[in-house]
Amino acid sequence: MKKTILEIDLNALEHNFNVISSKLSSQTKFMAVVKANGYGSSSVEIAKKLVTMGVDYFAVAFAREGVALRKSAIKTPILVLLPQAESFKEIIKYDLEPSLYSFYFLENFIDYLSSNEIKNYPCHFKINTGLNRVGFNEEEVEKAIIKIENCDSIHLVSIYSHLAATDDLKESKFTRSQINLFRKISSNIKSRFSYNPFLHMSNTSGIYNYPECEFDMVRSGIGLYGYNNELNGELKPVHTLKSIIAQIIE
Ligand SMILES: *Cc1c(COP(=O)(O)O)cnc(C)c1O
Repeated sequence: MKKTILEIDLNALEHNFNVISSKLSSQTKFMAVVKANGYGSSSVEIAKKLVTMGVDYFAVAFAREGVALRKSAIKTPILVLLPQAESFKEIIKYDLEPSLYSFYFLENFIDYLSSNEIKNYPCHFKINTGLNRVGFNEEEVEKAIIKIENCDSIHLVSIYSHLAATDDLKESKFTRSQINLFRKISSNIKSRFSYNPFLHMSNTSGIYNYPECEFDMVRSGIGLYGYNNELNGELKPVHTLKSIIAQIIE
């Protein structure tokens, strides 16, 4: 070996996908989170393998990551978690599905869609239930939903939220309060639409520790790559970084 190599073990990925899927009920959809280059390797290689395994959805952080998947001929639906207003054009050209997570993004996206006469564009509504990163707070939801109801540009494919502490069982009271708040807000939103947006909340450690919040889909990232605090052994590492030792001093 003459250089530093990052190995991606696609058999380990397959194993992890199967192990995590086996925790889920058969109707639950699986969203693979491949943001940040598949947690530091190659989102394209990871995603191509997962397509052959029957993954239902991908999630990326930014539109350009979704574009890279589309340019590699990946046709699976792609949720963009943190789309920016500069990427409207790319989002539409490459058939990416943005998260609606702020009034700024929502209002500008509606304007863009209506000025381009685009109707029923698939979007995902993000609720903040306590992580406090992005998403509409409980008291903002009504105003945001009215904007969506009053335009014909947006189709809500799903409603989702993100859990803050599923890996820490000492925080289970807080996690349960997040889950309950999500149930309450999402059922209010669903009652407003004649169609049926699906729900998702759980990340990898949520799948293990809070099976009650499986809903219609789960979003797994870190577990696919083989890391899970609780389960040393059950999942296999996908990434191995190998390098040369320059010198050993004894
Ligand atoms: C990164 C991310 C995930 C994946 O979480 P893991 O703990 O890696 O499984 C899920 N949902 C959102 C919104 C994320 O940003």
